[in-house]
Amino acid sequence: MAELFLYLAMVAPVSWLERCPTYKEQVVQLASKEVSTLGFLGYPVLQCADIIIVHGEIVPVGEDQLPHLELCREIVRRFNFLYGDYFKEPEALLSEVKRLPGTDGRKMSKSYGNAIYLSDDPDTIRKKVRQMITDPQRIYRTDPGHPEICLVFDLHEIYSSEEIAKVEEDCREARIGCTQCKDLLARRIADSLASFRQKRKDLLEDEGRIEGIFAQSREKVLKIADKTMADVRNLLKL
Ligand code: SF4
Repeated sequence: MAELFLYLAMVAPVSWLERCPTYKEQVVQLASKEVSTLGFLGYPVLQCADIIIVHGEIVPVGEDQLPHLELCREIVRRFNFLYGDYFKEPEALLSEVKRLPGTDGRKMSKSYGNAIYLSDDPDTIRKKVRQMITDPQRIYRTDPGHPEICLVFDLHEIYSSEEIAKVEEDCREARIGCTQCKDLLARRIADSLASFRQKRKDLLEDEGRIEGIFAQSREKVLKIADKTMADVRNLLKL
């Protein structure tokens, strides 16, 4: 991976990386951290190496990662132009929900500390959802709400689709308080993650099985990656 990253870094112009929207966003959003580094700037190149070293053709991503994938496709085109038609341009596979907002309204990200993790238990989810900002015009419980400007409602649309009309009406008619509404959302999120959490717990209790899966996958991937790197070295006449 590191070797392929190095070769791809030689063909990826810095200007392509600097115009990447996620990098520009991180420079602004993470102003207190030092993100003007080669590591952050070159991260999409590392992702590209990660994809193409195994000739990945379909990549499941969120909408915010599309520019990275487009960059990867450009790097592949440039590599193929310079050294011969070898890699395929990977395609994105978007899920039904293309972008999930974090608990502060920005994109959900570990770096922003606004993420609800797949492994979070119901109580942790409830605490995180309770911190979310709602309709700022709704000051008293008796004030009618405006779901169209409420982040909690945005997530209800994803997790409570079957009862969304009722949530909207209850909010507009002030029949429900924001805390009650948040707790309902937290329950829906926790319910949707319940089977995943159980599966994760079962796997963690069965260490041997995880190690077996890793070993099998490692063997499979190494075979493909070794062949890719041998081909790449040939193309580069190294
Ligand atoms: S009731 Fe729910 S949707 Fe309405 S403002 Fe409060 S949290 Fe948002």
